[in-house]
Amino acid sequence: MPSHTLIQDGRAHDAARFSDPSDLSALDGNETIDVLHIANDADLDALAPALGRVETILIDFPAYTDGRGFSLARQLRTKYGYDGLIIADGPLIPDQYAFALQCGFSAVHIDDETLKRHTIEDWNAALDDFDLTYQRGYAVKNGPATSVFDARLTALDERKAADPFFGHSAELTLRKAIKKYQGDIVLATSMGVDSAVLLHMVSRIDKSVPVIFLDTGKHFRETLAYRDELVERFGLTDFRNITPDQAEVMAEDPDGSLHDREPDACCDLRKVRPLDRVIHGFGARITGRKRYQTPQRADMPILEKGGAQAKVNPLAYWTAKDVTQYLRQHNLPPHPLLALGYLSIGCQPCTTRVTAGEDPRAGRWRHSDKTECGIHMVDGKWVSSESKATFEAF
Ligand code: SF4
Repeated sequence: MPSHTLIQDGRAHDAARFSDPSDLSALDGNETIDVLHIANDADLDALAPALGRVETILIDFPAYTDGRGFSLARQLRTKYGYDGLIIADGPLIPDQYAFALQCGFSAVHIDDETLKRHTIEDWNAALDDFDLTYQRGYAVKNGPATSVFDARLTALDERKAADPFFGHSAELTLRKAIKKYQGDIVLATSMGVDSAVLLHMVSRIDKSVPVIFLDTGKHFRETLAYRDELVERFGLTDFRNITPDQAEVMAEDPDGSLHDREPDACCDLRKVRPLDRVIHGFGARITGRKRYQTPQRADMPILEKGGAQAKVNPLAYWTAKDVTQYLRQHNLPPHPLLALGYLSIGCQPCTTRVTAGEDPRAGRWRHSDKTECGIHMVDGKWVSSESKATFEAF
């Protein structure tokens, strides 16, 4: 397969050329793909299985009068759920810039010839000339939480430099983490309403990644059935069901009512200590936490340091809608209690339904100010954010 160097915003990238939709060899294997350059009539169905491995897609625009690239970008966003960077590559004109962003493009590649005709200022001025508020744009999920309308042409590289995960899809982040920590990374799952997302992604990358479930002895039977269903469906080969130390349970919670009297102590007995016994043997841990879930998670980076361990939060920037969209796109089974009004599910005694309009986590430890079980703290404190950390730095 021929390759070439792409110059984008004054920087050179090695780019795989993928102009022939019938040639899928660039997508063979399991490696991540930095830049995928596709023709504007590419077969997206054929590309779909590999999209999670691609950081940036360039779409050819042979002429500014050829609008097929716009449709392609929109389909990548809406039908295929692609949330990496999409860049238009060709002789677009400034008047098309706003429309390109609305269709899901992250930026437009401007070559030297185009720049002679239209300066960067022309492009940004054209963006300001259009009223974009009547249509929804597409913000890149795994990046700074800014509107796509702030995405000025010259800012893309700066944003990538400021945040190494900007534009990364969750699956791409996960792939890089699993590769970096091969054999030394673990996924801890609650088997809750959105657990199927990460379990599915992990199974697509490496089914042998260890997956840990804290079987507290207090779960809904529906959660345990869901656990069994997902493990079998995804073919996970190193699933570990972790239970509390029975001697400790007999000593500290002999009648099983500790959750009523001292929920923090109960979580410590049934979650924190059992997890501690196994998790610290790993160099990195994958979590499904998201920024929108609690105030404590609002600034959570994709990669953070938890004591001596790296924590990878591939879904940090996801919303509840993103989860729903992913489950639907991949035809994944919902948690059986979701339809009954349980939007966030933990142990049975500490989980209630939520009513319409309530915060999804309002049903957890209701009538208490407790919001977390403590498994994401280090020495009782929240770990500090390392928003600019890279895997290489860990
Ligand atoms: S969530 Fe409730 S039952 Fe489960 S470990 Fe914590 S306090 Fe105990």
